Amino acid sequence: MIIRLADIDDEFVARGEMDTSVFSDLEENHVSLASPVGFELKVRKAGDRVRIEGPIRCVMTVTCARCLDEFSYPMDGYLDVELAPSTSAPQATEFELRGDDLDIYYYEGDEIEIDPFVYDEVLLNVPTRPLCREDCAGLCQTCGKNRNYEACSCDRPVNTVLGEKLKSFLTK
Ligand SMILES: [Zn+2]
Ligand SMILES: [Zn+2]
Repeated sequence: MIIRLADIDDEFVARGEMDTSVFSDLEENHVSLASPVGFELKVRKAGDRVRIEGPIRCVMTVTCARCLDEFSYPMDGYLDVELAPSTSAPQATEFELRGDDLDIYYYEGDEIEIDPFVYDEVLLNVPTRPLCREDCAGLCQTCGKNRNYEACSCDRPVNTVLGEKLKSFLTK
């Protein structure tokens, strides 16, 4: 979605959806989208500055880090960025001197494209180590069974068995 600043008096609500196909490179992170990405962003002008703020939501399909099952993860993000005209962008040297981490972006001319901001917010909200549930029992390291569904008889940890063998080897 492209916003033309001339069309906005003070405030404007940009509401829409981004199609899942835009997010196909999320699959590298074992994530796919189970719903379009909905956004409802308040766009406010203050002089030549523009603030874009509001919720971004979708449903992701992610892979549990313990049991490798896929599950639905409702993502609830919040975008909050401020933009200034590109003519006011500091030169490289000034930028180093400032040394703060203010999230300021720049726009050119009279138009702001919203999609890249929505896209980045979705990426930022991909869980790094998702768990299908807090107490997910994970996969058995010995037989590979998903212990959320099935108990297995490998209750003796491998390292103990190895430890025993090592002990008998050393005492020979
Ligand atoms: Zn799990
Ligand atoms: Zn097992």
